[in-house]
Amino acid sequence: MKIHEYQGKEILRKYGVTTPRGLPCFSVDEAVAAAASLGGKVWVVKAQIHAGGRGKGGGVKVAKSADEVRQYAEAILGMQLKTHQTGPEGQKVRRLLVEEGADIKQELYLGMVVDRVSQRVCLMASSEGGMDIEEVAAHTPEKIHKVFIDPESGLKDAEADDVARKIGVPEASVAQARVILQGLYKAFWETDASLAEINPLIVTGSGAVIALDCKLNFDSNALFRHPDIVAMRDFDEEDPAEIEASKFDLSYISLDGNIGCLVNGAGLAMATMDTIKLFGAEPANFLDVGGGASAEKVTEAFKIMLKNPKVKGILVNIFGGIMKCDTIAAGVVTAAKDVHLTVPLVVRMRGTNEDLGKEILKHSGLPIISADTMAQAAERMVAAIAGH
Ligand code: ADP
Ligand code: MG
Repeated sequence: MKIHEYQGKEILRKYGVTTPRGLPCFSVDEAVAAAASLGGKVWVVKAQIHAGGRGKGGGVKVAKSADEVRQYAEAILGMQLKTHQTGPEGQKVRRLLVEEGADIKQELYLGMVVDRVSQRVCLMASSEGGMDIEEVAAHTPEKIHKVFIDPESGLKDAEADDVARKIGVPEASVAQARVILQGLYKAFWETDASLAEINPLIVTGSGAVIALDCKLNFDSNALFRHPDIVAMRDFDEEDPAEIEASKFDLSYISLDGNIGCLVNGAGLAMATMDTIKLFGAEPANFLDVGGGASAEKVTEAFKIMLKNPKVKGILVNIFGGIMKCDTIAAGVVTAAKDVHLTVPLVVRMRGTNEDLGKEILKHSGLPIISADTMAQAAERMVAAIAGH
């Protein structure tokens, strides 16, 4: 789960990480009032969307008067902000963060992720902050310093100081950087984060170390322990099809292709998408209906897939284990009738009672195309779309 920058900063402050003072705003008037209550002479008006690269896309503006705050808030609020992370359609801005302007002397980078190989949290730090860290990793990987943090001890003072010096924090500010590094790690650990990023971490003209941006993602499997974080969820930032699917306990991810896939089991779903690509087509989604592919679940899955106008055909690939093929076939037939399916439907099912299942499909009166192997299913799907 993702949250907004201002929410991430609220969390980080609890862990002793210094951030600029700022206020979230939902209207232009609120933005102007926020700047007045913050005081000072320079403010930054920042679009709040769940994507990075806002600055380059025109979503972060420095204002030097109340009039400029108003002008930028008017321009940014409601805009369709396009960044390299939003896709070409962009994301509508519904919230702003107005914060005090910082006197930036150095822009550094801090990131944390779970490293599966070492089974530790990996801290990544670089002197090259403010820009795309992917570029730094690709062209000057030696400028990224890593620490694999021992979960027993946490991030040690010496490790924090060493990494701070390596990324160019001046000696007088190393102690402050340590507080931020250790605070970020503690926040990461205690909130069950999956990714944390402060880009840029800045050193100001007077030597203060401040988190100027903040991105936090959380492990969805641990959200039950964090009702306060769940309360920060912003449905406006999420794919409506994915929200709908989650209500029915379906694991669904929207993709760009035109073949809807309905599969049980994540591994089989991945293999199905690979097979579709192998035969020259593109999947419209990843969809794992889970262990119990009931008629209700299949119906909801069909409805969700068919809401996407790009979907030109549906491929069902089911392994009947505990859930028998005849039960699934009955579910597929009911669902197809229920949604008045008009696009080609290819079904491949293997496993317990597969012959019974195939009989049900055959006698359903629906133009269902049956397949035995995955290759056959993909091939027939691609052919059906071409002829449709
Ligand atoms: P994004 O990463 O989405 O582009 P950032 O929050 O990193 O958004 O802002 C982009 C840039 O804007 C920063 O690298 C920094 O140079 C500038 N900036 C952001 N917040 C402030 C601030 N409070 N004061 C001064 N400059 C800022
Ligand atoms: Mg940033």
